[in-house]
Amino acid sequence: MAHILFKVALVLSLMHKNKNLYFMIPYMGYYVIAGVMFLIGMLVSNRLKAKFQEYAQIPLQNGLSGREIAEKMLRDHGIYDVQVISSPGFLSDHYNPDNKTVNLSEDVFQGRSISSAAVAAHECGHAVQHATQYNMLQLRSKLVPAVKIGTSLSQWVILAGLGIMGFGHGNQTILLIGILLFSFSTIFSVVTLPVEYDASNRALAWLNQTNVTTPQEHEKASDALKWAARTYVVAAISSVATLLYYILIFLNRRSND
Ligand SMILES: [Zn+2]
Repeated sequence: MAHILFKVALVLSLMHKNKNLYFMIPYMGYYVIAGVMFLIGMLVSNRLKAKFQEYAQIPLQNGLSGREIAEKMLRDHGIYDVQVISSPGFLSDHYNPDNKTVNLSEDVFQGRSISSAAVAAHECGHAVQHATQYNMLQLRSKLVPAVKIGTSLSQWVILAGLGIMGFGHGNQTILLIGILLFSFSTIFSVVTLPVEYDASNRALAWLNQTNVTTPQEHEKASDALKWAARTYVVAAISSVATLLYYILIFLNRRSND
């Protein structure tokens, strides 16, 4: 809700400051891109859910559960200090580097399907990244505090920079600080891409080497993980587009001053 109010305030401020409608065209372009990205994002996440539900119906031939697969993959990589635990939710699976836990949703934890094998192995891929000090994961972890502060503050600072919360005409330096704060989340979403693809590659390589999946099962596991990765691609593109939009506003105001 706050996000929508922010967008409306942004457009109103642009229209108020610029009576010339031609000025609005590049900004409208952004809203077209944002709308298209939103639709693509919905299609991709629906497709991901459908794929996971489809492959959750196909039992794994070796009969291992997600939990058993995760524990085996960790052991095979010489990792003994990471716990595999069950957490509530659908597709809520994640690896937590702070307390070294692989958190699997109940369906994955107990499931003995292609979906549960793919997800369990993917999350262990993150545990392996952590144990081997994979540089992109380390960079991503270092960004977390900046992203937390940046995301909550950037919208307000940008509005202040535009002059919506006082400061008269607005202030270019404040606007620039707001854009810099926002840029942390863009960098984060871009750095997430190699981290996610690498975790899936590790998972698929291990599933293949150990014959936990048959060649036919492997193909389906790979397909499911591809759709999961695409959701991160869409998020990264949207974030880059938003950052470029803010930069466009900044440059335009500077040339107007
Ligand atoms: Zn992941």
